Amino acid sequence: MDLKAFRIKAGRNKKKYTTFLKGLHSRKVKQLNAKAKKLNDIAFKKIDCLACGNCCKTMTPTWQPADIKRVASHLKMTVQQFKDKWLYKDESGDWLNTKTPCQFLQKDNKCSIYEIRPKDCSGFPHIHHTDFLVGREINIPNMTSCPITYEVVERMYKLVVEKDQSALDSK
Ligand code: SF4
Ligand code: SF4
Repeated sequence: MDLKAFRIKAGRNKKKYTTFLKGLHSRKVKQLNAKAKKLNDIAFKKIDCLACGNCCKTMTPTWQPADIKRVASHLKMTVQQFKDKWLYKDESGDWLNTKTPCQFLQKDNKCSIYEIRPKDCSGFPHIHHTDFLVGREINIPNMTSCPITYEVVERMYKLVVEKDQSALDSK
């Protein structure tokens, strides 16, 4: 995947799609969440995360206590050792990675702890299980980092604003 070209395209359309998402509640779209789920499925089929890896390269997951305990145990470390080595607590109390790319990202964009990765990672970009209107808050920043989020927002714009049903085609 050409991430540089993606960043240019996403940056160019950021304002248009941010305005669209912020005003989406007033459009009263029928079955919005079902449409978002369908678009999410299409985007996941179209975009290969292993050819991207941009979330693991540029963002940090939020580590829940259960995630830390599970992964630390897998690595035969104590929770404290794990935190000391890789995490910090931000001002809202969330445990985040100290550095990017993530310490578990491999050269082939695979995750070395894939089966036991944090819940935040396995659910990312959180479109399929979040109310789309509520999820706007994270989709707005994510759409310029995550090609799947961008694809969903772009298709939603096409569907809702341009009334173009081809946005639901899996092409
Ligand atoms: S734990 Fe794995 S999936 Fe999560 S950010 Fe790190 S490399 Fe990516
Ligand atoms: S979830 Fe988004 S940012 Fe992460 S690898 Fe897949 S397309 Fe890229």
